[in-house]
Amino acid sequence: MPVRRCLGCGVRAPKELLARFTVVPGQDGARLARDDRGRLGGRGLYVCRVPECFDRASARRAFQRGARLRGASLAVDPALGQALDEER
Ligand SMILES: [Zn+2]
Repeated sequence: MPVRRCLGCGVRAPKELLARFTVVPGQDGARLARDDRGRLGGRGLYVCRVPECFDRASARRAFQRGARLRGASLAVDPALGQALDEER
């Protein structure tokens, strides 16, 4: 079973148990998008399915680093983290 690391707290877990995000191009640059099923392709960025880990990853710019955008900015919508709160 594939295991991935949460960008918020660092725990390693089967990727099915984590929320998956990826980077998609947008009008104003790259943005983070939820992509649990991997339909959007690209490099997966994972956090636990709780807003605390999303917010921590966002505050530490872990999504930006994980996206490997080489200096380009990445828009991270806080609503993505709020959605995790609503799911639990
Ligand atoms: Zn976590």
